[in-house]
Amino acid sequence: MTKNELIYLLSLEKDENIKELFNAASAVRNSFTGNGIYLRGLSEISNRCRKNCLYCGIRRDNLKTPRFDTDTKEIIAEAKWCYENGYASFTIQSGERTDENFISRTEELLKEIKKIGNGALGITLSCGEQTEETYKRWFDAGAHRYLLRIESSNPEIYAQLHPNDGLHKWDIRYNCLKLLQKTGYQVGTGVMIGFPGQSVENLADDLLFFAREKIDMIGMGPYVLHPDTPLGKKVLDNKENTAAQKEKRLLMALKMIAVCRLLLKDVNIASTTALQALHPQGQLLGLRAGANILMPVVTDVNHRENYSLYENKKSANNCTPTPEDLQKLAENAACSIKFNQWGDSPAFFKRRKNEADNSPSKFRLFKEK
Ligand code: SAH
Ligand code: SF4
Repeated sequence: MTKNELIYLLSLEKDENIKELFNAASAVRNSFTGNGIYLRGLSEISNRCRKNCLYCGIRRDNLKTPRFDTDTKEIIAEAKWCYENGYASFTIQSGERTDENFISRTEELLKEIKKIGNGALGITLSCGEQTEETYKRWFDAGAHRYLLRIESSNPEIYAQLHPNDGLHKWDIRYNCLKLLQKTGYQVGTGVMIGFPGQSVENLADDLLFFAREKIDMIGMGPYVLHPDTPLGKKVLDNKENTAAQKEKRLLMALKMIAVCRLLLKDVNIASTTALQALHPQGQLLGLRAGANILMPVVTDVNHRENYSLYENKKSANNCTPTPEDLQKLAENAACSIKFNQWGDSPAFFKRRKNEADNSPSKFRLFKEK
């Protein structure tokens, strides 16, 4: 698809056209990745962060957020719970920390999680920008997927969302995506959708960025305000957080999922928790728009409230859904949960095959469960 075609699809407004777009995206998902939905239990292990992203509720300078680190024992218990409930994959997310203490603790944690069911759980990491050496240590310890959103494919827009302090650089973030691919991870990225100043043209460019960079997994969600952040305050001052504006952000996020599915076809696309913050059935709507991954929050209940990236984060109060709840959710989108299966991105295997033909030693072979 050309950029103009992407813009055309993202600009659809009539209900019947949008429905047709979502149906087409679901059909493409069904023929390229099946109508199976794969689960990744999301454990938010620490909200300590060295960064100060202008939109994020756990940014370093938000002194109202009490900071936590989850006990290793508790995280292992969450991973076991996932294994016992057929989730098959576990995702570890945190604020960005680059101290050796965090790096080695995470490394040991990965090794422990790998012991559960004798390597039964696939592991995804989402712990921000790290050195090549750290990415390699974590890969060797058992992680095989990594999520690092580029936030915007446009460096100028990225600069508007982050402080200009040398620590928040688009080039460094982009280079991290390249390092992750080089290390052998399945690599996920994504953008926030609907923050002030973002245009449909920018979003079309984001989709073309995913295609150009041969991204395996996509995690995108609407921008959701957090009142104790510089961007959140500005949006509130400008009265840009009305119900109509939130609805617009939600709809654009769903259209992005659908158009991304039409463009990239065999990638994994998550129906993210931020959708749920803007609509009680946000995750169901994401599946109906062509997503194939659900990431139920399994974080320690004592810490959920303090992992508040944005307001109205549903996992803060809600219990983790049971396997039956999840199956019902999937069936409502004419899909079915694939329990006990990793559901790795088919796009990754295609990329790996192409690249391995040139440089076989780069890729560790791992078993698909
Ligand atoms: N620290 C890591 C992982 C945790 S943050 C990192 O930044 O990569 C995970 C994602 O939460 C970010 O990539 C960002 O896209 C999203 N996020 C943060 N604040 C948000 C907000 N106010 N609205 C929507 N998404 C937000
Ligand atoms: Fe830290 Fe990630 Fe939030 Fe940025 S988005 S402040 S890196 S947790």
